[in-house]
This record gives sequence, C-alpha cells and structure tokens, in this order.
Amino acid sequence: MNAENSINYNSPAALKAFLEQEGLGMQKKFGQNFLINPQVRKDLVQVMELKSGDCIWEIGPGLGVMTELLLEKGANVKAFEIDNGFIRVLKNIFSENKNFTIVEGDVMKTWQKHPPVPYLLGNLPYNIAAVLLADFIEKGRQFSRMAVTVQKEVALRMMASAGSPDYSSFSVMCASVYSVKPIMTIRPSSFFPQPNVDSMGVLLVNRLTGEKFPEIFFPLVRALFASRRKTIKNNLITFLSPRHGKIKTLDICASVLHENAVNENERAENLDFNAFLSLAKSIDNMRL
Ligand code: SAM
Repeated sequence: MNAENSINYNSPAALKAFLEQEGLGMQKKFGQNFLINPQVRKDLVQVMELKSGDCIWEIGPGLGVMTELLLEKGANVKAFEIDNGFIRVLKNIFSENKNFTIVEGDVMKTWQKHPPVPYLLGNLPYNIAAVLLADFIEKGRQFSRMAVTVQKEVALRMMASAGSPDYSSFSVMCASVYSVKPIMTIRPSSFFPQPNVDSMGVLLVNRLTGEKFPEIFFPLVRALFASRRKTIKNNLITFLSPRHGKIKTLDICASVLHENAVNENERAENLDFNAFLSLAKSIDNMRL
C-alpha cells in the first residue's frame, strides 16, 4: 500500500472513512490527534534540516503522515507506536521501505533499549509529552536536534526563563541541554479530532559541548522546585536532611548558599540554569 494513494491525511472525512474501513477507532487515552495541516507538517520537517541517510526517531507515527515526509527526505526512520491498529497500518504502508523500522509498545518502556540517534521528531501525545522529554534529559539521552509538537502550555514551560510564571524544573532541564525555540503556534483546527487547546511546534537544538552534569544535578533541580512557595534554603533542607541529618544539613546549606552568593530567602523560580549548576557542583564537591 502506498500512503499517498491510500490515505488522504488532510481530510477529517477521509481519515474517518479510512479508520472505519480498517476497523479502527481513535483512542483518547493515547492522545491521538492527527495533524491534518500540510503546511505545518512541512515546516516541522524542514526545521530538522535532514540529509539523506540521517537516523531519526519518530514518536507516535499514527497513520504515518510525518513518517512519509521523513522517508521522502531519505532519512532512516525508527518509529515508536503503541496502538496495535496503527502498527498494522504502518507495517502495510512502509514495510517494504528498508529505511523504516517500527518499535511496538509504550515508548516510555522501549526507548532505552535502542542506541542513540542524532534526530527526533514527534507530534507527541499530550499525556506523555513532558514526561518523555524529561526522561530523555534525566537519563542522559541527548539528541542533536528535535522538533516536537506539544500543548502550548507545555511549550511555554519548555521555553521559560527565570522569573517568568511558566518557569519550572522542566524549563531548567530543557535549558540544561538545549536551546529551545518556537517553530509555530498550531490551532486546534489543524488537528483531527480537534483538541481543546492550542499546540506549538518547538525546536530543540543541542547546545552542549560535552558537559557532564554532577549526578545530583537533576534531583536537585526537582527538589528546589518541589514546593514553589518555600525558599531555596527550605527546599534544600528537605532534600538533604534524609541523607545527612538535620544539624549537618543546616551547615551544608549555609555553606553552599554562601559559596554561590544565593540569598537564603531566594526562590527557585528566580535562579537560572547556571545558578542551579553551580549549586549542584558545590554540593558535589563536598563529596557528601
Ligand atoms: N504522527 C501522527 C500525526 O502527526 O498525525 C499522530 C500523532 S498523535 C498526536 C500521537 C501518536 O502517539 C498516536 O499515534 C498514538 O497512538 C501514539 N502514542 C500515544 N502514546 C504512546 C506511547 N506511550 N508510546 C508510543 N506511541 C504512543
């Protein structure tokens, strides 16, 4: 089956008819919204700047609308899909293309079994978008370049800088490895079925030069945002006390905050990525 001949990806009516013909339904729990706007699809692939032979992961290929564009670029595509019905359709469409591999099942459980590749693209299912991106970052799996679509609210968190209301531990994680840029806002009408909220295409470009983070870095970032209303000092005490006891923890906190010239009444939302990294390095250097 050739995708171009068999599925009209731009028409909700045609998609509905195709799903019916294949005996398939849409599963809300898997965040299934097809991207029916061809210009948005084209722009998402374009920002990846792919060359023939580049290896890319696609998360949630659905019925293969983005997969087809990636394969047309000559990319080597490994697609992670959970829906058995969609997997059957994808195998029918692409199985003869030697540049296409499918990984069946929940990407949260399967991705670690696969070796790193430089590129990733995905119209990410809403329910796992932020968790999956954070998982890659915390487990040290980096990509050179990623283009993803996510809910606008998640995109704003990914791009937020210190002091903004959208700034969170997730913003620091994204900034730790990537420069994060908006590609476009995507209105609900660009999807079928239409979601209730706007989405955004986001480009993440790796900006690291081989920097290694202390092991404590990501746990520390999460801990300092754990209770947003608490000061850094109090969140740090909660984080370190179980390991070091209350008295020693107070000493460690005082010296780490002093060394980094961080006011003890400061809150995590006002510290940028470099400040978190210095705090983590100070704690790490104490060889606690
Ligand atoms: N790529 C298609 C498009 O752009 O029209 C579909 C995108 S749809 C927003 C998300 C896709 O991710 C669906 O195909 C869904 O079945 C798949 N998916 C949802 N949860 C998943 C998971 N945990 N692991 C792998 N795929 C998942």
